[in-house]
Amino acid sequence: MRPFQEALEIVLGQVRPLQKVESVPLTAAYGRVLAMDIAAREDIPVADNSAMDGYAVRTADLPDEASCRERPLRVVEVLAADHLASSALKSGEAMKIMTGAPIPPGADAVVMVEHTRLEGERVWIGKPPREGNHIRVAGGDMRKGEIALVKGTRLTPATVGMMAALGYADVPVLRAPQVGILATGDEIVEPTAPLTPGRVRNSNSYSLAGLVSQAGAVPHLMGIAPDSEESLKTSLQAGLAEHDVLITSGGVSMGDFDYVKRLVDEVGLKVHFRTINMKPGKPVVFGTRGEKLFFGLPGNPVSSMVVFLQLVRPALMKAMQQPDLGFRTLQAPIAEPFSKTDGKRHFLRGVLHPGPEGTLQVRLTGDQGSGLLHSMGRANCFVVIAEDTQRIEAGDAVTVQLFEGEPLPA
Ligand code: AMP
Ligand code: MG
Repeated sequence: MRPFQEALEIVLGQVRPLQKVESVPLTAAYGRVLAMDIAAREDIPVADNSAMDGYAVRTADLPDEASCRERPLRVVEVLAADHLASSALKSGEAMKIMTGAPIPPGADAVVMVEHTRLEGERVWIGKPPREGNHIRVAGGDMRKGEIALVKGTRLTPATVGMMAALGYADVPVLRAPQVGILATGDEIVEPTAPLTPGRVRNSNSYSLAGLVSQAGAVPHLMGIAPDSEESLKTSLQAGLAEHDVLITSGGVSMGDFDYVKRLVDEVGLKVHFRTINMKPGKPVVFGTRGEKLFFGLPGNPVSSMVVFLQLVRPALMKAMQQPDLGFRTLQAPIAEPFSKTDGKRHFLRGVLHPGPEGTLQVRLTGDQGSGLLHSMGRANCFVVIAEDTQRIEAGDAVTVQLFEGEPLPA
């Protein structure tokens, strides 16, 4: 049985970062990993422009309150966002300007329309503007030649927007790992099948598909393989041939029909370990064939998700050249005591929530049975209890791993 940390290191030691690059349209770029540095090819914004709807003015005309009161400006032109002024702004003049419109030559400030009063063609300015007020300078967002986005960036909504602003319709990204997901078990049926005694609906394939997508890889559902040697072998062969990573669920524990565990050698996998000193998730087969990775996850719905998040996700992250392989981790006091004597690393399902006076606290989701999918459904974090810890008291600080996409509670 492998210590958890050792198992993780073995897995990461087998991962070769994917190098192939492909081009995807902007609408498909979210969540993908940028394959090269992206330099700005021009200044963005391209010209000094107005940050407000208002009036472009010369600050020299309005040095103090008195000049504002006594000297209205003559409005000589109206500048829509795409409109270049026909002449430079002269002393005593203003141009009405819309947000985004280029600043006319001669102007050095914009006064918000809310701070002005228009009478016919004359405008009174409420108080003396300062040079540069409400002007967005050329290159103020991204400067020509500057590296705006670095290789390896996981594209977020904001960085996809930056790519668009930089003039890209297609984005060079790393090819995402293709992950085959195979459920196993004679009792497993697809979600629409009626439940009769002895049947279990396939939830694992769908939870795992979500986790794969969340990690930025591409899930390929391969259906359910029955517990028979021939069909399972065929599915394993196909799964390894067609994907970078193959994940199975079920068939790796001590039952008479747990064939996955027995067939891994026969399909040419080099097996690195078969059990891990963790709970849930003790039976886990990890194998490799060339650069392909195989994870035989346990069948219990919670176990398969826990092992995915603890071992498979870091492997996918490394394959995608991501620097952060793990969770956002913090310490928080736990609401209830917990005991164990099995010497395993436990991954309890928890809810991190606000405590008194801006503190954070964590409580468990209740019964921690590895078949209880609702305990994952309610959780926003894992509480990690170390191998050698036997007892935790209420109020003790524990290590909390926050699930991706969960905001830190306020
Ligand atoms: P096994 O390791 O194959 O004995 O599976 C352990 C437990 O997980 C059994 O109760 C299975 O019915 C259950 N299980 C296995 N595969 C799935 C699946 N795809 N979806 C939901 N439960 C599963
Ligand atoms: Mg089974």
